[in-house]
Amino acid sequence: MADKTRITIIGGGVGGYPAAIRAARMGADVTLIEKDALGGTCLNWGCIPTKSLLQSAGVIQTLKDSEVFGVKCKGYEVDFGPS
Ligand SMILES: Cc1cc2nc3c(=O)[nH]c(=O)nc-3n(C[C@H](O)[C@H](O)[C@H](O)COP(=O)(O)OP(=O)(O)OC[C@H]3O[C@@H](n4cnc5c(N)ncnc54)[C@H](O)[C@@H]3O)c2cc1C
Repeated sequence: MADKTRITIIGGGVGGYPAAIRAARMGADVTLIEKDALGGTCLNWGCIPTKSLLQSAGVIQTLKDSEVFGVKCKGYEVDFGPS
């Protein structure tokens, strides 16, 4: 039986982890090395967190503009602490 192709991928961001999954599905023996957080910039600091903040900002703006829609909304608080 032929040896499996061995692949080492450095970095578990959106570049690295899909490559690791793809290579494993193609039958390779894959090692993924990640020095910090799996998911990389996009999942942990970039795309996803910024979209979450953007959505929160949109909700705040809707609350501020609520009287335009005939809704009086007072007394809300912004709290970005852990939920
Ligand atoms: C604020 C912000 C918002 C963004 N929004 C979007 C968006 O909406 N849409 C979009 O398409 N893109 C967005 N991006 C860009 C997106 O995050 C990057 O294009 C993407 O993360 C690049 O992926 P990558 O795998 O090449 O690198 P990274 O995600 O940076 O992953 C590299 C990984 O390698 C690891 N690593 C580095 N050196 C080593 C080492 N020596 N040993 C082991 N591990 C190592 C790192 O810890 C990291 O986890 C945004 C970026 C930022 C900063």
